[in-house]
Amino acid sequence: MIFRIKRLPGFFWKILRIIIQTTSGDILMNKKIVIIGAGPGGYAAAVRAAQSGAEVTIIENDTIGGTCLNRGCIPSKIMQTTAALLDKFQRAEEFGIDADSKARLNIQRLMERKSKIIQTQISGLHSTLQHHNIRYISGTGCIRHNGVVIATPQQSEASEIPYDKLILAVGSSPSEIPGFPFDGEHILSSNHALDLRELPESLLIIGGGVIGCEFAFIMSAFGVKVTIVEALSGILPLPSVDDDCSKVLLREMKKSKINVLVNRSADSYETKNGKIHVTLTPSVFAKNLSERDKKPVIIEVDKILVCVGRKPDIAGMGLENISVKTDEKGWVIADENMETHAENVYAIGDILGPAKIMLAHVASTEGIISAENAMGGSRVMNYQVVPNAIFTMPEVANAGLTETQAKAQGFDVCSGKVLFRTLGKAHVIGEIAGEAKIVSDAASGKILGVHIVGPHATDLIAEATLAIQMGCSVKELAQTIHAHPTLAEIMMEASFEAMGGARNLR
Ligand SMILES: Cc1cc2nc3c(=O)[nH]c(=O)nc-3n(C[C@H](O)[C@H](O)[C@H](O)COP(=O)(O)OP(=O)(O)OC[C@H]3O[C@@H](n4cnc5c(N)ncnc54)[C@H](O)[C@@H]3O)c2cc1C
Repeated sequence: MIFRIKRLPGFFWKILRIIIQTTSGDILMNKKIVIIGAGPGGYAAAVRAAQSGAEVTIIENDTIGGTCLNRGCIPSKIMQTTAALLDKFQRAEEFGIDADSKARLNIQRLMERKSKIIQTQISGLHSTLQHHNIRYISGTGCIRHNGVVIATPQQSEASEIPYDKLILAVGSSPSEIPGFPFDGEHILSSNHALDLRELPESLLIIGGGVIGCEFAFIMSAFGVKVTIVEALSGILPLPSVDDDCSKVLLREMKKSKINVLVNRSADSYETKNGKIHVTLTPSVFAKNLSERDKKPVIIEVDKILVCVGRKPDIAGMGLENISVKTDEKGWVIADENMETHAENVYAIGDILGPAKIMLAHVASTEGIISAENAMGGSRVMNYQVVPNAIFTMPEVANAGLTETQAKAQGFDVCSGKVLFRTLGKAHVIGEIAGEAKIVSDAASGKILGVHIVGPHATDLIAEATLAIQMGCSVKELAQTIHAHPTLAEIMMEASFEAMGGARNLR
Protein backbone atom coordinates (compact mmCIF):
# COMPACT_ATOMS: atom_id res chain seq x y z
CA MET A 1 0.00 0.00 0.00
CA ILE A 2 2.68 2.51 1.01
CA PHE A 3 4.78 1.48 -2.01
CA ARG A 4 1.90 2.20 -4.41
CA ILE A 5 1.12 5.56 -2.80
CA LYS A 6 4.76 6.64 -3.25
CA ARG A 7 4.54 5.98 -6.98
CA LEU A 8 1.67 8.45 -7.45
CA PRO A 9 2.54 11.64 -9.42
CA GLY A 10 3.96 14.42 -7.23
CA PHE A 11 0.82 16.57 -7.09
CA PHE A 12 -1.45 13.72 -5.99
CA TRP A 13 1.11 12.63 -3.44
CA LYS A 14 1.19 16.13 -1.99
CA ILE A 15 -2.63 16.22 -1.67
CA LEU A 16 -2.64 12.74 -0.15
CA ARG A 17 -0.02 13.78 2.37
CA ILE A 18 -2.12 16.77 3.47
CA ILE A 19 -5.20 14.54 3.86
CA ILE A 20 -3.23 11.99 5.85
CA GLN A 21 -1.70 14.68 8.06
CA THR A 22 -5.04 16.31 8.86
CA THR A 23 -7.02 13.10 9.29
CA SER A 24 -5.08 10.02 10.34
CA GLY A 25 -1.54 11.33 10.60
CA ASP A 26 -0.69 8.46 12.93
CA ILE A 27 -0.57 6.04 10.00
CA LEU A 28 2.38 7.33 7.99
CA MET A 29 3.89 10.42 9.57
CA ASN A 30 6.18 10.34 12.58
CA LYS A 31 4.59 11.95 15.60
CA LYS A 32 6.92 14.20 17.56
CA ILE A 33 6.75 13.21 21.19
CA VAL A 34 8.68 15.22 23.76
CA ILE A 35 9.14 13.94 27.30
CA ILE A 36 10.42 16.09 30.16
CA GLY A 37 12.13 14.02 32.85
CA ALA A 38 14.03 10.75 32.38
CA GLY A 39 13.10 8.85 35.53
CA PRO A 40 11.33 5.46 35.43
CA GLY A 41 8.20 7.20 34.12
CA GLY A 42 9.90 9.24 31.42
CA TYR A 43 12.27 6.61 30.01
CA ALA A 44 9.55 3.92 29.92
CA ALA A 45 7.33 6.35 28.00
CA ALA A 46 10.19 7.22 25.63
CA VAL A 47 10.94 3.60 24.74
CA ARG A 48 7.25 2.71 24.26
CA ALA A 49 6.67 5.78 22.05
CA ALA A 50 9.76 4.99 19.95
CA GLN A 51 8.68 1.36 19.58
CA SER A 52 5.37 2.65 18.25
CA GLY A 53 7.15 4.71 15.58
CA ALA A 54 7.27 8.17 17.16
CA GLU A 55 10.15 10.61 16.84
CA VAL A 56 11.05 10.95 20.51
CA THR A 57 13.03 13.57 22.42
CA ILE A 58 13.62 13.24 26.15
CA ILE A 59 14.96 16.13 28.24
CA GLU A 60 16.62 15.50 31.61
CA ASN A 61 18.20 18.15 33.84
CA ASP A 62 20.05 15.81 36.19
CA THR A 63 20.95 12.16 35.59
CA ILE A 64 19.04 9.61 33.57
CA GLY A 65 17.17 7.19 35.83
CA GLY A 66 15.70 9.95 37.99
CA THR A 67 15.03 9.63 41.69
CA CYS A 68 14.61 5.87 41.53
CA LEU A 69 18.05 5.07 40.17
CA ASN A 70 20.07 7.93 41.63
CA ARG A 71 18.40 8.97 44.89
CA GLY A 72 15.70 6.40 45.66
CA CYS A 73 14.88 2.73 45.06
CA ILE A 74 18.28 1.48 43.90
CA PRO A 75 20.70 3.23 46.32
CA SER A 76 18.39 2.59 49.28
CA LYS A 77 18.13 -1.12 48.39
CA ILE A 78 21.90 -1.35 47.98
CA MET A 79 22.23 0.00 51.52
CA GLN A 80 19.45 -2.30 52.78
CA THR A 81 21.20 -5.32 51.26
CA THR A 82 24.40 -4.47 53.13
CA ALA A 83 22.40 -3.84 56.32
CA ALA A 84 20.67 -7.25 56.04
CA LEU A 85 24.01 -9.00 55.39
CA LEU A 86 25.61 -7.28 58.34
CA ASP A 87 22.68 -8.38 60.47
CA LYS A 88 23.20 -11.98 59.32
CA PHE A 89 26.95 -11.77 59.98
CA GLN A 90 26.22 -10.73 63.57
CA ARG A 91 24.33 -14.04 63.86
CA ALA A 92 27.09 -16.12 62.22
CA GLU A 93 27.41 -18.51 65.17
CA GLU A 94 23.72 -19.39 64.97
CA PHE A 95 24.39 -20.67 61.41
CA GLY A 96 27.38 -22.74 62.48
CA ILE A 97 30.06 -20.25 61.47
CA ASP A 98 32.92 -19.32 63.80
CA ALA A 99 33.59 -15.75 62.71
CA ASP A 100 37.10 -14.66 63.67
CA SER A 101 36.35 -10.99 64.02
CA LYS A 102 33.21 -8.94 64.36
CA ALA A 103 31.80 -7.83 60.99
CA ARG A 104 31.48 -4.06 60.68
CA LEU A 105 30.46 -1.60 57.99
CA ASN A 106 32.97 0.01 55.65
CA ILE A 107 30.92 2.94 54.42
CA GLN A 108 33.47 4.04 51.80
CA ARG A 109 33.32 0.61 50.15
CA LEU A 110 29.55 0.59 50.35
CA MET A 111 29.40 3.98 48.60
CA GLU A 112 31.83 2.74 45.93
CA ARG A 113 29.63 -0.31 45.31
CA LYS A 114 26.56 1.94 45.15
CA SER A 115 28.20 4.27 42.56
CA LYS A 116 29.36 1.33 40.45
CA ILE A 117 25.91 -0.26 40.29
CA ILE A 118 24.22 3.06 39.51
CA GLN A 119 26.80 3.83 36.81
CA THR A 120 26.19 0.45 35.15
CA GLN A 121 22.45 1.12 35.12
CA ILE A 122 22.95 4.64 33.74
CA SER A 123 25.05 3.29 30.86
CA GLY A 124 22.42 0.62 30.19
CA LEU A 125 19.67 3.22 30.01
CA HIS A 126 21.65 5.42 27.61
CA SER A 127 22.28 2.40 25.37
CA THR A 128 18.56 1.57 25.40
CA LEU A 129 17.66 5.11 24.35
CA GLN A 130 20.28 5.02 21.57
CA HIS A 131 19.06 1.63 20.41
CA HIS A 132 15.57 3.11 19.95
CA ASN A 133 16.90 6.28 18.25
CA ILE A 134 15.61 8.46 21.07
CA ARG A 135 17.14 11.93 21.20
CA TYR A 136 18.43 12.65 24.72
CA ILE A 137 18.96 16.28 25.74
CA SER A 138 20.81 16.96 28.95
CA GLY A 139 19.16 20.19 30.09
CA THR A 140 16.10 21.77 31.66
CA GLY A 141 12.76 21.52 29.90
CA CYS A 142 10.17 24.29 30.10
CA ILE A 143 6.92 24.75 28.18
CA ARG A 144 6.90 27.93 26.05
CA HIS A 145 3.41 27.57 24.57
CA ASN A 146 1.16 24.92 23.11
CA GLY A 147 3.33 22.78 20.81
CA VAL A 148 6.74 24.09 21.87
CA VAL A 149 9.14 23.24 24.69
CA ILE A 150 12.39 25.08 25.43
CA ALA A 151 15.36 22.90 26.34
CA THR A 152 18.18 24.69 28.13
CA PRO A 153 21.38 22.64 28.40
CA GLN A 154 23.80 23.68 31.15
CA GLN A 155 26.65 24.60 28.84
CA SER A 156 24.98 25.74 25.62
CA GLU A 157 22.20 27.84 24.15
CA ALA A 158 18.53 27.10 24.71
CA SER A 159 16.64 25.61 21.79
CA GLU A 160 12.99 25.27 20.81
CA ILE A 161 11.67 21.73 20.49
CA PRO A 162 8.29 21.39 18.76
CA TYR A 163 5.94 18.61 19.85
CA ASP A 164 2.72 16.96 18.73
CA LYS A 165 2.37 15.32 22.13
CA LEU A 166 4.09 16.21 25.40
CA ILE A 167 4.61 13.91 28.38
CA LEU A 168 5.45 15.51 31.74
CA ALA A 169 7.50 13.20 33.99
CA VAL A 170 9.49 15.56 36.20
CA GLY A 171 8.99 13.69 39.48
CA SER A 172 9.31 14.98 43.02
CA SER A 173 11.84 15.94 45.67
CA PRO A 174 12.00 15.70 49.49
CA SER A 175 9.74 18.05 51.45
CA GLU A 176 11.05 20.14 54.32
CA ILE A 177 9.17 20.93 57.52
CA PRO A 178 9.08 24.36 59.16
CA GLY A 179 12.04 24.95 61.42
CA PHE A 180 14.10 22.08 59.96
CA PRO A 181 15.55 23.31 56.63
CA PHE A 182 17.88 20.81 54.92
CA ASP A 183 21.54 21.76 55.31
CA GLY A 184 23.21 18.42 54.60
CA GLU A 185 25.09 18.67 57.87
CA HIS A 186 22.65 18.59 60.77
CA ILE A 187 19.37 18.26 58.91
CA LEU A 188 19.41 15.62 56.19
CA SER A 189 17.01 14.70 53.41
CA SER A 190 16.85 11.16 52.01
CA ASN A 191 19.19 12.40 49.23
CA HIS A 192 21.84 13.25 51.86
CA ALA A 193 21.29 10.01 53.80
CA LEU A 194 21.99 7.95 50.67
CA ASP A 195 25.31 9.70 50.24
CA LEU A 196 26.76 9.64 53.75
CA ARG A 197 30.53 9.31 53.96
CA GLU A 198 30.56 9.01 57.74
CA LEU A 199 27.97 7.53 60.08
CA PRO A 200 26.55 9.58 62.94
CA GLU A 201 26.51 7.96 66.38
CA SER A 202 22.84 8.80 66.78
CA LEU A 203 20.07 9.80 64.40
CA LEU A 204 16.54 11.14 64.79
CA ILE A 205 14.28 10.22 61.89
CA ILE A 206 11.26 12.48 61.58
CA GLY A 207 8.43 10.53 59.90
CA GLY A 208 7.52 6.87 60.31
CA GLY A 209 6.35 6.34 56.73
CA VAL A 210 7.96 4.03 54.16
CA ILE A 211 11.22 5.93 53.65
CA GLY A 212 11.64 6.74 57.36
CA CYS A 213 11.12 3.09 58.38
CA GLU A 214 13.48 1.76 55.68
CA PHE A 215 16.23 4.12 56.87
CA ALA A 216 15.56 3.27 60.54
CA PHE A 217 16.39 -0.42 59.95
CA ILE A 218 19.36 0.34 57.67
CA MET A 219 20.97 2.80 60.07
CA SER A 220 20.27 0.63 63.10
CA ALA A 221 21.94 -2.37 61.41
CA PHE A 222 24.92 -0.09 60.65
CA GLY A 223 25.27 0.52 64.40
CA VAL A 224 23.64 3.97 64.60
CA LYS A 225 21.43 4.65 67.62
CA VAL A 226 18.11 5.43 65.91
CA THR A 227 15.03 7.22 67.22
CA ILE A 228 12.02 7.57 64.95
CA VAL A 229 9.26 10.06 65.66
CA GLU A 230 5.82 9.82 64.06
CA ALA A 231 2.94 12.26 64.48
CA LEU A 232 0.26 9.60 64.01
CA SER A 233 -0.43 6.73 66.40
CA GLY A 234 1.53 4.00 64.56
CA ILE A 235 4.29 3.45 62.05
CA LEU A 236 3.61 3.02 58.32
CA PRO A 237 0.35 4.94 58.69
CA LEU A 238 -0.76 4.34 55.09
CA PRO A 239 -4.25 3.22 54.05
CA SER A 240 -2.74 0.33 52.03
CA VAL A 241 -0.80 -1.11 54.99
CA ASP A 242 -2.65 -3.63 57.14
CA ASP A 243 -2.72 -2.74 60.86
CA ASP A 244 -1.36 -6.19 61.83
CA CYS A 245 1.65 -5.72 59.52
CA SER A 246 2.35 -2.34 61.06
CA LYS A 247 2.17 -3.86 64.57
CA VAL A 248 4.56 -6.70 63.67
CA LEU A 249 7.00 -4.19 62.23
CA LEU A 250 6.80 -2.03 65.35
CA ARG A 251 7.64 -5.10 67.46
CA GLU A 252 10.63 -5.89 65.22
CA MET A 253 11.80 -2.26 65.44
CA LYS A 254 11.80 -2.50 69.21
CA LYS A 255 13.72 -5.80 69.03
CA SER A 256 16.30 -3.99 66.86
CA LYS A 257 16.55 -1.35 69.63
CA ILE A 258 15.05 1.37 67.45
CA ASN A 259 13.42 3.91 69.74
CA VAL A 260 9.91 4.62 68.38
CA LEU A 261 7.96 7.67 69.55
CA VAL A 262 4.43 7.96 68.16
CA ASN A 263 1.87 10.78 68.57
CA ARG A 264 4.75 13.28 68.69
CA SER A 265 6.02 16.00 66.35
CA ALA A 266 9.46 17.57 66.07
CA ASP A 267 8.94 21.16 67.10
CA SER A 268 12.34 22.86 67.06
CA TYR A 269 16.04 22.22 67.58
CA GLU A 270 19.21 23.90 68.70
CA THR A 271 22.83 22.83 68.48
CA LYS A 272 24.98 22.71 71.63
CA ASN A 273 28.59 21.49 71.66
CA GLY A 274 28.21 19.74 68.33
CA LYS A 275 25.04 17.90 69.41
CA ILE A 276 21.50 18.63 68.29
CA HIS A 277 18.84 19.07 70.97
CA VAL A 278 15.41 18.44 69.48
CA THR A 279 12.17 19.33 71.22
CA LEU A 280 9.36 16.87 70.56
CA THR A 281 5.81 17.96 71.43
CA PRO A 282 2.51 16.02 71.35
CA SER A 283 1.26 16.01 67.77
CA VAL A 284 -1.93 17.74 66.72
CA PHE A 285 -3.33 14.29 65.83
CA ALA A 286 -2.72 12.80 69.28
CA LYS A 287 -5.83 11.96 71.31
CA ASN A 288 -6.44 11.02 74.98
CA LEU A 289 -2.86 11.64 76.08
CA SER A 290 -1.76 11.10 79.65
CA GLU A 291 -0.38 14.12 81.56
CA ARG A 292 3.11 12.66 81.07
CA ASP A 293 2.67 12.33 77.31
CA LYS A 294 1.43 15.91 77.05
CA LYS A 295 4.82 17.23 78.20
CA PRO A 296 7.48 18.12 75.60
CA VAL A 297 10.55 15.87 75.50
CA ILE A 298 14.06 16.90 74.49
CA ILE A 299 16.32 14.35 72.85
CA GLU A 300 19.98 14.73 71.94
CA VAL A 301 21.23 13.38 68.60
CA ASP A 302 24.04 13.88 66.08
CA LYS A 303 21.89 14.24 62.99
CA ILE A 304 18.26 14.55 61.97
CA LEU A 305 16.83 12.87 58.88
CA VAL A 306 13.55 14.39 57.69
CA CYS A 307 11.27 11.91 55.85
CA VAL A 308 7.90 13.62 55.84
CA GLY A 309 6.95 13.25 52.21
CA ARG A 310 7.72 14.73 48.80
CA LYS A 311 6.76 17.77 46.76
CA PRO A 312 6.21 18.04 42.99
CA ASP A 313 9.11 19.36 40.89
CA ILE A 314 7.06 21.76 38.80
CA ALA A 315 8.63 25.15 39.60
CA GLY A 316 9.68 26.98 36.43
CA MET A 317 8.13 24.35 34.13
CA GLY A 318 5.78 26.84 32.44
CA LEU A 319 2.67 24.76 33.21
CA GLU A 320 0.65 27.98 33.31
CA ASN A 321 1.54 28.63 29.64
CA ILE A 322 -0.68 25.74 28.52
CA SER A 323 -3.20 25.59 31.38
CA VAL A 324 -2.12 22.28 32.91
CA LYS A 325 -4.11 22.15 36.17
CA THR A 326 -2.69 21.26 39.57
CA ASP A 327 -4.35 20.64 42.93
CA GLU A 328 -3.86 22.89 45.97
CA LYS A 329 -0.56 21.14 46.83
CA GLY A 330 0.82 21.52 43.30
CA TRP A 331 0.36 17.88 42.17
CA VAL A 332 -0.55 17.73 38.49
CA ILE A 333 -4.06 16.55 37.67
CA ALA A 334 -4.38 13.83 35.01
CA ASP A 335 -7.22 11.47 34.14
CA GLU A 336 -7.11 7.67 33.85
CA ASN A 337 -5.68 7.98 30.30
CA MET A 338 -2.88 10.10 31.81
CA GLU A 339 -4.17 13.21 29.96
CA THR A 340 -3.94 16.60 31.68
CA HIS A 341 -6.36 19.47 31.16
CA ALA A 342 -4.08 20.84 28.39
CA GLU A 343 -4.58 19.43 24.92
CA ASN A 344 -1.95 16.89 23.80
CA VAL A 345 -0.25 16.97 27.19
CA TYR A 346 0.07 13.89 29.43
CA ALA A 347 1.45 13.64 32.98
CA ILE A 348 2.85 10.56 34.71
CA GLY A 349 4.70 9.40 37.81
CA ASP A 350 5.41 11.18 41.05
CA ILE A 351 4.11 14.57 39.83
CA LEU A 352 0.60 13.14 40.14
CA GLY A 353 1.13 12.91 43.91
CA PRO A 354 0.31 10.36 46.60
CA ALA A 355 -3.32 9.93 45.51
CA LYS A 356 -2.00 8.12 42.42
CA ILE A 357 0.68 6.07 44.31
CA MET A 358 4.26 7.34 44.15
CA LEU A 359 6.22 4.24 43.13
CA ALA A 360 8.66 3.53 40.33
CA HIS A 361 6.64 0.70 38.77
CA VAL A 362 3.50 2.87 38.84
CA ALA A 363 5.42 5.66 37.07
CA SER A 364 6.68 3.22 34.41
CA THR A 365 3.21 1.76 33.81
CA GLU A 366 1.72 5.23 33.53
CA GLY A 367 4.58 6.12 31.15
CA ILE A 368 3.80 3.20 28.85
CA ILE A 369 0.08 4.01 28.92
CA SER A 370 0.67 7.70 28.18
CA ALA A 371 2.94 6.81 25.23
CA GLU A 372 0.41 4.37 23.78
CA ASN A 373 -2.39 6.92 24.17
CA ALA A 374 -0.23 9.66 22.65
CA MET A 375 0.13 7.35 19.65
CA GLY A 376 -3.64 7.03 19.28
CA GLY A 377 -4.43 4.34 21.86
CA SER A 378 -7.05 4.47 24.60
CA ARG A 379 -5.53 2.57 27.51
CA VAL A 380 -6.67 3.20 31.03
CA MET A 381 -4.46 3.07 34.14
CA ASN A 382 -5.69 0.66 36.82
CA TYR A 383 -4.61 1.63 40.34
CA GLN A 384 -6.59 -1.19 41.99
CA VAL A 385 -3.90 -3.88 41.81
CA VAL A 386 -0.54 -2.25 42.52
CA PRO A 387 2.06 -4.18 44.52
CA ASN A 388 3.53 -2.16 47.35
CA ALA A 389 7.01 -3.18 48.54
CA ILE A 390 8.57 -1.81 51.72
CA PHE A 391 12.18 -2.86 52.31
CA THR A 392 12.29 -2.86 56.08
CA MET A 393 13.73 -5.77 58.08
CA PRO A 394 11.49 -7.79 57.91
CA GLU A 395 10.01 -6.60 54.64
CA VAL A 396 6.39 -5.52 54.24
CA ALA A 397 4.38 -5.92 51.04
CA ASN A 398 0.79 -5.74 49.97
CA ALA A 399 -1.55 -5.74 47.00
CA GLY A 400 -5.28 -5.09 46.78
CA LEU A 401 -7.57 -4.17 49.66
CA THR A 402 -6.98 -4.26 53.40
CA GLU A 403 -9.68 -5.86 55.55
CA THR A 404 -10.90 -2.39 56.56
CA GLN A 405 -11.09 -1.21 52.94
CA ALA A 406 -12.87 -4.40 51.81
CA LYS A 407 -15.49 -4.06 54.59
CA ALA A 408 -15.97 -0.38 53.74
CA GLN A 409 -16.70 -1.46 50.15
CA GLY A 410 -19.47 -3.74 51.40
CA PHE A 411 -17.74 -7.13 51.13
CA ASP A 412 -18.51 -9.92 53.57
CA VAL A 413 -14.84 -10.43 54.34
CA CYS A 414 -13.15 -13.68 55.14
CA SER A 415 -9.46 -13.60 55.97
CA GLY A 416 -6.80 -16.21 56.59
CA LYS A 417 -3.55 -15.55 58.40
CA VAL A 418 -0.45 -17.74 58.70
CA LEU A 419 2.75 -17.08 60.63
CA PHE A 420 6.12 -17.52 58.92
CA ARG A 421 7.31 -19.55 61.93
CA THR A 422 5.02 -22.38 60.73
CA LEU A 423 7.14 -22.81 57.56
CA GLY A 424 10.21 -25.03 57.46
CA LYS A 425 11.98 -22.66 55.09
CA ALA A 426 11.62 -19.72 57.49
CA HIS A 427 13.53 -21.75 60.12
CA VAL A 428 16.14 -22.87 57.55
CA ILE A 429 17.01 -19.27 56.70
CA GLY A 430 16.64 -18.14 60.32
CA GLU A 431 13.94 -15.56 59.62
CA ILE A 432 10.77 -16.58 61.38
CA ALA A 433 9.18 -13.21 62.26
CA GLY A 434 6.07 -12.13 60.41
CA GLU A 435 2.89 -13.35 58.81
CA ALA A 436 0.83 -13.36 55.62
CA LYS A 437 -2.84 -12.51 55.48
CA ILE A 438 -5.25 -13.11 52.61
CA VAL A 439 -8.41 -11.03 52.51
CA SER A 440 -11.16 -12.66 50.45
CA ASP A 441 -14.82 -12.29 49.61
CA ALA A 442 -16.69 -14.85 51.73
CA ALA A 443 -19.35 -15.48 49.08
CA SER A 444 -17.14 -16.15 46.05
CA GLY A 445 -13.78 -16.84 47.66
CA LYS A 446 -12.25 -14.22 45.35
CA ILE A 447 -8.99 -12.81 46.67
CA LEU A 448 -9.36 -9.10 47.43
CA GLY A 449 -6.05 -8.33 49.09
CA VAL A 450 -2.82 -9.86 50.39
CA HIS A 451 -0.69 -8.42 53.20
CA ILE A 452 2.69 -9.84 54.11
CA VAL A 453 5.27 -8.87 56.69
CA GLY A 454 8.24 -11.20 56.80
CA PRO A 455 11.26 -12.54 54.89
CA HIS A 456 11.20 -11.80 51.14
CA ALA A 457 7.71 -10.32 51.40
CA THR A 458 8.57 -7.97 48.52
CA ASP A 459 9.19 -10.96 46.20
CA LEU A 460 6.30 -13.05 47.53
CA ILE A 461 3.83 -10.29 46.68
CA ALA A 462 4.27 -10.98 42.94
CA GLU A 463 2.18 -14.17 43.16
CA ALA A 464 -0.48 -12.33 45.15
CA THR A 465 -0.61 -9.49 42.62
CA LEU A 466 -1.11 -11.93 39.75
CA ALA A 467 -3.78 -13.82 41.69
CA ILE A 468 -5.75 -10.62 42.36
CA GLN A 469 -5.26 -9.36 38.79
CA MET A 470 -6.55 -12.66 37.39
CA GLY A 471 -9.57 -12.74 39.73
CA CYS A 472 -8.29 -15.93 41.39
CA SER A 473 -10.13 -17.47 44.36
CA VAL A 474 -8.58 -18.74 47.59
CA LYS A 475 -9.55 -22.26 46.51
CA GLU A 476 -7.62 -21.93 43.22
CA LEU A 477 -4.59 -20.59 45.04
CA ALA A 478 -4.80 -23.27 47.74
CA GLN A 479 -4.99 -25.98 45.08
CA THR A 480 -1.96 -24.65 43.20
CA ILE A 481 1.07 -26.80 44.01
CA HIS A 482 3.81 -24.79 45.71
CA ALA A 483 7.40 -26.07 45.92
CA HIS A 484 8.72 -27.23 49.29
CA PRO A 485 10.56 -25.94 51.24
CA THR A 486 9.93 -22.38 50.06
CA LEU A 487 8.60 -19.20 51.59
CA ALA A 488 5.98 -19.14 48.81
CA GLU A 489 4.17 -21.93 50.66
CA ILE A 490 2.82 -19.22 52.94
CA MET A 491 0.47 -18.10 50.16
CA MET A 492 -0.97 -21.60 49.83
CA GLU A 493 -1.31 -21.98 53.61
CA ALA A 494 -2.97 -18.58 54.04
CA SER A 495 -5.41 -19.52 51.23
CA PHE A 496 -6.35 -22.70 53.08
CA GLU A 497 -6.92 -20.60 56.21
CA ALA A 498 -9.10 -18.16 54.29
CA MET A 499 -11.10 -21.10 52.83
CA GLY A 500 -11.95 -22.27 56.32
CA GLY A 501 -14.31 -19.34 56.70
CA ALA A 502 -15.61 -19.17 53.13
CA ARG A 503 -18.99 -20.66 52.23
CA ASN A 504 -19.58 -23.49 49.68
CA LEU A 505 -15.97 -23.80 48.68
CA ARG A 506 -14.75 -27.17 49.80
C1 LIG B 1 14.65 7.00 49.33
C2 LIG B 1 13.62 6.53 48.33
C3 LIG B 1 13.42 5.18 48.15
C4 LIG B 1 12.49 4.73 47.24
N1 LIG B 1 12.31 3.39 47.07
C5 LIG B 1 11.41 2.92 46.19
C6 LIG B 1 11.24 1.54 45.99
O1 LIG B 1 11.90 0.72 46.61
N2 LIG B 1 10.34 1.12 45.06
C7 LIG B 1 9.58 2.02 44.35
O2 LIG B 1 8.77 1.60 43.52
N3 LIG B 1 9.73 3.35 44.52
C8 LIG B 1 10.61 3.82 45.41
N4 LIG B 1 10.80 5.17 45.56
C9 LIG B 1 9.95 6.09 44.77
C10 LIG B 1 10.47 6.21 43.33
O3 LIG B 1 11.81 6.61 43.35
C11 LIG B 1 9.63 7.21 42.55
O4 LIG B 1 8.27 6.85 42.67
C12 LIG B 1 10.00 7.24 41.09
O5 LIG B 1 11.35 7.60 40.92
C13 LIG B 1 9.13 8.24 40.34
O6 LIG B 1 9.48 8.26 39.00
P1 LIG B 1 9.23 9.54 38.07
O7 LIG B 1 9.71 9.13 36.72
O8 LIG B 1 7.86 10.01 38.22
O9 LIG B 1 10.14 10.69 38.69
P2 LIG B 1 11.69 10.77 39.00
O10 LIG B 1 12.28 9.44 39.18
O11 LIG B 1 11.80 11.75 40.12
O12 LIG B 1 12.32 11.38 37.68
C14 LIG B 1 12.03 12.69 37.26
C15 LIG B 1 13.24 13.25 36.55
O13 LIG B 1 12.88 14.49 35.96
C16 LIG B 1 13.97 15.39 36.09
N5 LIG B 1 13.45 16.77 35.97
C17 LIG B 1 12.76 17.48 36.88
N6 LIG B 1 12.44 18.70 36.38
C18 LIG B 1 12.95 18.74 35.12
C19 LIG B 1 12.95 19.73 34.10
N7 LIG B 1 12.32 20.90 34.24
N8 LIG B 1 13.60 19.44 32.95
C20 LIG B 1 14.23 18.25 32.75
N9 LIG B 1 14.25 17.28 33.69
C21 LIG B 1 13.60 17.53 34.86
C22 LIG B 1 14.52 15.06 37.46
O14 LIG B 1 15.87 15.48 37.60
C23 LIG B 1 14.40 13.54 37.47
O15 LIG B 1 15.57 12.94 36.99
C24 LIG B 1 11.74 5.66 46.47
C25 LIG B 1 11.96 7.03 46.63
C26 LIG B 1 12.88 7.46 47.55
C27 LIG B 1 13.10 8.95 47.71
